Amino acid sequence: MQRDALRDARAYLRWLGRMGMVIPRAEVQAKLDEMQENTDNHGQPRTKEAGRQLSRLAQVVAACRKCEIGHTRKNSVFGVGNPAAALVFVGEAPGAREDETGKPFVGPAGNLLTQELARHGVTRDEVFICNVLKCHPPNDRDPVADEIIACESYLLQQLDIIQPKMLCALGRFAAATLLKCPIFIMKLRGSWQSYGGRPLFMCLHPAAVLHSPANRSLFSSDIEALARAYHAAKGGPGAPDIRTNR
Ligand code: SF4
Repeated sequence: MQRDALRDARAYLRWLGRMGMVIPRAEVQAKLDEMQENTDNHGQPRTKEAGRQLSRLAQVVAACRKCEIGHTRKNSVFGVGNPAAALVFVGEAPGAREDETGKPFVGPAGNLLTQELARHGVTRDEVFICNVLKCHPPNDRDPVADEIIACESYLLQQLDIIQPKMLCALGRFAAATLLKCPIFIMKLRGSWQSYGGRPLFMCLHPAAVLHSPANRSLFSSDIEALARAYHAAKGGPGAPDIRTNR
């Protein structure tokens, strides 16, 4: 149905052109691009199909025992949000509370992220939030290389389905894992890198603010810069030229 609407819109615009009407081309093209982007190859809204694919992948993750922590977790934590989000947040690994609930970024750090996004006009419903690792490492230990290697394919599959315009790494561990090298988050925070061909923004982890309130203004300015790029990218033309440093 959406494909029909797209065809009709194009025909109507051609007719307006023939009638000598002045058409704001950039604006119209942006709208057409947006309609096309939200439609899959079968003319169906992409969100629905992406939602179905994510549900199937979530079931695979829920049954996964590819690494040790699959045997000690209570719940896998697949990720939540808009299946066709333009922005995907990637954190490190679920904590104890996430393990209990099966949802990422709940608790004080998650609330802080939600509040800061809302301050900049972004709701959690419109983005997607997940972690590199889908299971909680026992005793909150850092994930090991084998676990990351085993789990990263799920993240890549999630991104293939969601097709976001941009990613945001939350905290040093997520950033280092995605960039495949050790990093100083205080040096890289606020910069654009890239992961899998997509712009990747480096952001402080909200937990860093809970540990040290002095980080609050840094975290706020990271989210502000990210939200600005996100709003511009969603607006089509006028999106900033995001130059990555890698
Ligand atoms: S952490 Fe990832 S790879 Fe390991 S069991 Fe959980 S879902 Fe599977």
